[in-house]
Amino acid sequence: MTRYVRCNFCNADDTEVMNHGPDLLLQKPGDFYLVRCRRCGLIYQNPQLSQEELAAHYPDNYLPYQQDTADRQTRIAHVSRDQAIAYIQHRDEEVGREMAQLQAELRAAMDGLRNARHESEMLRRQIEADDR
Ligand SMILES: [Zn+2]
Repeated sequence: MTRYVRCNFCNADDTEVMNHGPDLLLQKPGDFYLVRCRRCGLIYQNPQLSQEELAAHYPDNYLPYQQDTADRQTRIAHVSRDQAIAYIQHRDEEVGREMAQLQAELRAAMDGLRNARHESEMLRRQIEADDR
């Protein structure tokens, strides 16, 4: 049974999903979420698998357990690391672009609001002048 856990570092219960995906190594069923603690920034899997479920993902013949395949294990680790870095760089660029777009939209909206306020003030003065 999967269970939601609090941040292991600061004990907060406030996360945002960074990514989710399948077991790439063994193709075991499941969709696994990486979350980031909004308080301290720790990235961890949540929810987490029970001991029984974990055992299915780490069988006795699990590749990294094989001493004679250390080189392969290292290569797989490097590929995983490179994929993670590439993904984070990609997301960082995407978020940067989205942020710039949102800031531009916010500036445009604020300009529109300022113009509308100015126009309504001019109209109010015109109406008050006409009433006199
Ligand atoms: Zn935390």
